[in-house]
Amino acid sequence: MLPVALMASFGFWAILRQRNAVQMDAQQRAGEIVQTWPIDFGRTAAMQLVALDGSKQGWLNYLRWGVSPWPNDSQRQQRLADGYQMTTITNDLADLKAAFPDWKQGEALPMVNFVLQTNGDVYDARLMPPNPPSWLSTMSTPQYEAWAALEAADFANRPAPEIGKLAGVFEQMEPPRDARVDAEFISLRADSRTDPATNAIIELSGFAGRHLTVLSDSGLPVSTLALAEALKRSHECGPTRALWMALNSEINAPDILAPALLDEAAELITNNIPLSQSVDAMKILLADKEMQNELSEAVRASGIPNGVITTNLWVGAMGQRWFCILQPVDVSFQTRVSNYPITITDVYTRVRCYPESLVTRAFAQALGTTRVTIPDYFSIGADLEGMPLVLPPPWNHCGTNLPVGNRLMWRNFQMTFTAGTFPEDMPSHPQFTLQVQLTNPGMLYARQRQIQLVFGLLIAFSALSALIGFIAALRSFRRQQALSEMKSNFVSSVSHELRAPIASVRLMAENLERGKVPDASRQGEYFGFIVQECRRLSSLIENVLDFSRIEQGRKQYELEPTDVAALARGTVKLMEPYAAEKGVRLEFNSSQPATCELNLDGRAIQQALVNLIDNAVKHSPKGETVTVGLEAVSLNSPLSTINLFVADHGPGIPPEEHGKIFERFYRLGSELRRETQGVGIGLSIVKHIIEAHGGHVRVQSSPGQGSRFTIELPANQK
Ligand code: ADP
Repeated sequence: MLPVALMASFGFWAILRQRNAVQMDAQQRAGEIVQTWPIDFGRTAAMQLVALDGSKQGWLNYLRWGVSPWPNDSQRQQRLADGYQMTTITNDLADLKAAFPDWKQGEALPMVNFVLQTNGDVYDARLMPPNPPSWLSTMSTPQYEAWAALEAADFANRPAPEIGKLAGVFEQMEPPRDARVDAEFISLRADSRTDPATNAIIELSGFAGRHLTVLSDSGLPVSTLALAEALKRSHECGPTRALWMALNSEINAPDILAPALLDEAAELITNNIPLSQSVDAMKILLADKEMQNELSEAVRASGIPNGVITTNLWVGAMGQRWFCILQPVDVSFQTRVSNYPITITDVYTRVRCYPESLVTRAFAQALGTTRVTIPDYFSIGADLEGMPLVLPPPWNHCGTNLPVGNRLMWRNFQMTFTAGTFPEDMPSHPQFTLQVQLTNPGMLYARQRQIQLVFGLLIAFSALSALIGFIAALRSFRRQQALSEMKSNFVSSVSHELRAPIASVRLMAENLERGKVPDASRQGEYFGFIVQECRRLSSLIENVLDFSRIEQGRKQYELEPTDVAALARGTVKLMEPYAAEKGVRLEFNSSQPATCELNLDGRAIQQALVNLIDNAVKHSPKGETVTVGLEAVSLNSPLSTINLFVADHGPGIPPEEHGKIFERFYRLGSELRRETQGVGIGLSIVKHIIEAHGGHVRVQSSPGQGSRFTIELPANQK
């Protein structure tokens, strides 16, 4: 068993080692995948990220110049009539919809692009809460008093000429420029109230367009106040071109009142489709500005200083994370100082903000361009500037969660891009890492586990077979040992069985020969005894010879029609002297008709019957009766049998021995204490003979109850 145990352990060890090989294969596969990402993968990813910049700008321009202006504005009409531009817009919109499946066209696009001024405000947006203007605190006391008088008259709704006069007084005191514009506005507004609405609106809108940057004393731009007044007057005459132009410039650089102004403008429209489209477009443009504002707040809150900064960062705003790329831009403009033309250059910061969903989509698309698929047990983890990203399938098999699993291989890249909206190459070179992770080791090892199971079972089965073989060999060895013991007992039993009768036959024959038995009747007794013993001897020898033939497979039976009843009766007669000698009565008892013919080997059946009668007589106490009988069982059914039985009143056989007594050499009790004669082959010969005739031998017996052996011969075997 030791070599089997050693081989089995070696087998199991080898199977377990196989797991390491699978792990190494996975590692190698991960290495191959990483190798398929080209050197300039950073450029591909950057390209995918900025791919929609142009589309978004195109869409905003379309809203600004093609939808929001007054319906018969020439620029609007030109745009809408230009088939090429319209096709471009349609394509842009399709691209945007594909990238932002949740985006509805009436909303601002979650992708923001703005310019931060050196003071940290967003360029062209005045959405901060209003602050009192600086001119209010720089005025002299007389100037301030004149201003207060003008304001009080305006507040009290004094007549326009009175207000005009007070404004003139204030202007003559040479107040700061913005204060003068404010006074001019108060006077204009008072004047306009007596004008017809259409004229008033033209005046007010024109004023608003000329003074976009001037703040009133409340901190709100005067242009907005002028527009509010124009809107109020528009209720008298409905929407006008002048009003719409002022609204357009307000939305282009909105302030905190812009949403309310738009709502008021919407009230003016009744069933005018181009104008309601225009208001919707302005609402989207305004929402975009509001998003710019929110994101500029978030960028400022991150602590990144404004101005000449080149960096990129993640910020949280409007319920999601945004990746912002900051890039300085020089903005130069011409102006005049004391009538000398000069050029002023300001350094602003351009900020591009991409929502996380767009970033992950860009990575997924960039990976798609490599045309490499990954096995289901791997996921690709991406990390952009320290922010782990959840890529969509088929790159991530962990659903909406970050991939969890061993990082097998990874590679670092940086984004670079020199075209489109990044004319100077993506300046901050955002760093990112792509990694292959083993997210489903169960799946990887599933095949190997199957192989492990099959081989494990094979090894276990082989070891079990070896064990069973070993036990079987041990049992057969023990059986052979017992058999050889029984055989040697048999030889001594046979010798013993032969020696005693031969000795007595010889003694009697010698006495007769020497004339020591003169009495004729005594001589007859002697001769009878000699004949009897010789018959017993030849029966014993016959049994031994038959046994040897059976063992060698040479025993043959000659079947012929035989009268079983006559055969049984004859046998009983034959055995009677022997029984009488033992002091046992032998009787034949048949419930059958006198003849009962079957096809059988008469000699063999007789031998079987003799063996059974011999046993019965041997085991019967003196004076008892042994009954031999013949009976037919259900003669007319196909399973009918002719039964020959031999019953005695001997000591009986325990039920657990019933099977064993038919084995060769088997004898009850120990060799030393056995009282009956015998060699242990009688019943095995009976069994062989009867089974060769297609029948059975049965025994019914229990200790103290006697024994009944029955030979069952099939009745229909003619
Ligand atoms: P043996 O030559 O010992 O009789 P058998 O094969 O004829 O060998 O019988 C096997 C054993 O069965 C006997 O040793 C005996 O113990 C038991 N046996 C057989 N017939 C009887 C019987 N009629 N009554 C009690 N025991 C019996």
